[in-house]
Amino acid sequence: MTNNTFAQVSVIGAGTMGHGIAQVCSMAGMEVRLFDVKDDALQRGLDMVHNNLDKGVERGKVDESVRDATLQRLAGTTNLEVAVDGADLVVEAVPEILDLKQSLFSTIEQCVDEHTVLGTNTSSLSVAKIGSVLTHPERLVGLHFFNPVHIMKLLEVISHPSTASVVIERIQQFGTEIGKECIYVKDFPGFATSRLGVCLGMEAIRMLEQGVASAKDIDAAMVLGYRHPVGPLKLTDMVGLDVRLQIGEYLARELGNPAFEPPDLMREMVDAGKLGKKSGQGFYAWP
Ligand code: NAD
Repeated sequence: MTNNTFAQVSVIGAGTMGHGIAQVCSMAGMEVRLFDVKDDALQRGLDMVHNNLDKGVERGKVDESVRDATLQRLAGTTNLEVAVDGADLVVEAVPEILDLKQSLFSTIEQCVDEHTVLGTNTSSLSVAKIGSVLTHPERLVGLHFFNPVHIMKLLEVISHPSTASVVIERIQQFGTEIGKECIYVKDFPGFATSRLGVCLGMEAIRMLEQGVASAKDIDAAMVLGYRHPVGPLKLTDMVGLDVRLQIGEYLARELGNPAFEPPDLMREMVDAGKLGKKSGQGFYAWP
C-alpha cells in the first residue's frame, strides 16, 4: 500500500510515450496497467520498460529491488475494460488524432468510476474538444509528458475551461510523486512547448530541403551556438516524424500560421516509412 494520490493508474497506448508513462508511475509505487490495441505493440512497450530499468541497474541509477518491484506492479493487457477497471487515473497516449482520442475517452468513461481522473498526453490538440464527448469533462486534464519520459523532468499540465480545480491539485501532487516539475498552461493550440518546438523543427527541415546545410550541421548550429541539448532534426527523429507531421498540420490550421506547415521532404519521408528513431531511419540512422 502506498500513499500516492492515485493508487491505480491505467495507461492507454504502449508506444514511445505510453511505456514511459507506465514506467514512471510504477516506479513511484502505483499499480499500473498498460493497454494497447496491438499485441506486438504492447509487448514492445513492456520490453522497453524492462530495458530501461536494466540499463538503470547497469549504470547504478536504479536498485535491483526497485527494478523488480516496478516490473511486478506493471501489467499489460489488450482488453480495455480490464485495463481501466478500478483505475484512479487513466492516461491516454494514442496517436494524435482527435476522433480516436474522443471515441476512446467516451468508451473509457462508461467503464470507470465517476471520480476517476482522465489525462490526455496530446501534444497539441484542444483538451476541451477531446473532452466534449464526456459526461463529466471536469475530470479531464492535459498531461503532456516528454520523451524519454523516465528522463525528462517536465510535465506540462493543461487545464481547459471546465477542468475542476481539485483535479489540478491532485495532478500537482501526482507530478511531485513521479518526480516531475509541472508547468500550468491554458488550453491553446500547441500549449507552451509544442508551439515553440515544432516551429523550430519545421524550419530546420525546410532549411535541409533548401540545401542550406547538412542535418548534422543544422543540429550543431543549435547545440553549439544556442546551447540546445539536442538539435531540432535529431529531436524530430526522437519524437517521430509521423507524430510531428500530424501536430504541424493541426497547428498550421488552428493558428493560421504557415510556419507550422510540414515541408514536402517531411511528407516524403513519412510516406517512405522513415519515421525516425522508432523505425530505424529518419534524418539520421538509428541502428
Ligand atoms: P506511438 O505511435 O509511438 O504510439 C501510439 C500507440 O498507440 C501505438 O502502440 C498504437 O498501437 C497504439 N494505439 C493506436 N490506437 C489505439 C487505441 N485505439 N487504443 C490503444 N492504443 C492504440 O505514439 P507516441 O509518440 O507515443 O504518441 C502518443 C501521443 O503522445 C500522441 O498524442 C502524441 O502527440 C503525444 N506525444 C508524443 C511525444 C513524442 O515525443 N513522441 C511527446 C509528447 C506527447
